[in-house]
Amino acid sequence: MTYPWLKDIEQQLSTSFAAGRFHHGQLFNGQQGVGKSALVEQLANALLCQQPNGVQPCGQCKSCQLNQAGTHPDKFNVAIEGQSIGVDDIRTVSHFMSHSAAQNGNKVVIIKDCHKMTTAAANALLKTLEEPSPERFLLLTSTATTQLPATILSRCSRTDVQVSDQMSAQQWLASLQIIDYPWLSLFYKQPLLIQAWQEAEQLESVDQLYKFATELKQGHNFSALVDIINKDSELVRVFCLFISEQLKQQLVSGMDFDTYQQSQQALTEFYQNSTQVLGLNLPLAISRLAYSLRK
Ligand SMILES: [Zn+2]
Repeated sequence: MTYPWLKDIEQQLSTSFAAGRFHHGQLFNGQQGVGKSALVEQLANALLCQQPNGVQPCGQCKSCQLNQAGTHPDKFNVAIEGQSIGVDDIRTVSHFMSHSAAQNGNKVVIIKDCHKMTTAAANALLKTLEEPSPERFLLLTSTATTQLPATILSRCSRTDVQVSDQMSAQQWLASLQIIDYPWLSLFYKQPLLIQAWQEAEQLESVDQLYKFATELKQGHNFSALVDIINKDSELVRVFCLFISEQLKQQLVSGMDFDTYQQSQQALTEFYQNSTQVLGLNLPLAISRLAYSLRK
């Protein structure tokens, strides 16, 4: 099993797998930190395994050993270089698919973040999806299927991957000794994101962002906040989420709706500027945000 909250999805996949109804093009959609990568890796290994139990690879056979070593010749992982997946990457996929399997069985291609395909790449992939060959499988993941062409979507079997049972995520995080942060519940739907912060020793930084968000006032010295965001630009989104949650609570406890909307608007502008404007003066932008929120 990959993660406890994916138990139901794995069960469904096992059923179609056992019945020989496993679709040749599988798309796994869900937000970051939910376990899509682990799920497709496991599926690929099960498709290549000589004696899988449902979607669980046996872990013993030659194929499983090759997968554990990361050298299975019938598995191909499309790596994203830069911002997009180009047509050359997909040509490599078609080429890989067209050759016979080294282990006399299935061949599997994994394309993560497939919404990053260029239009030409998507068109090239469409050919592979339209003319499926037996024993060839495409496993795709995406955090933004709305960015995919309808032609791709219609030719894939689609599975939404999410944390359906927050309790299991909470317990899993507790098993990693991640428990006593007031903001933790905001990320129960993205438990692997929290784990990644733990591994990168960023939990304290995220906690500091939370404290900044709850006490944001103009005139503060924002340098510690700026330092944290400069180290990892992804954390801007987290900081904005904390402020947004703060505003929602203030709305519930009596903030008038116009003020609430204006504050959320200021926050959206801050987020857009900090992610899109190169060379933005971040201390100034935060100071402005604090000023708008204080009004
Ligand atoms: Zn095996």
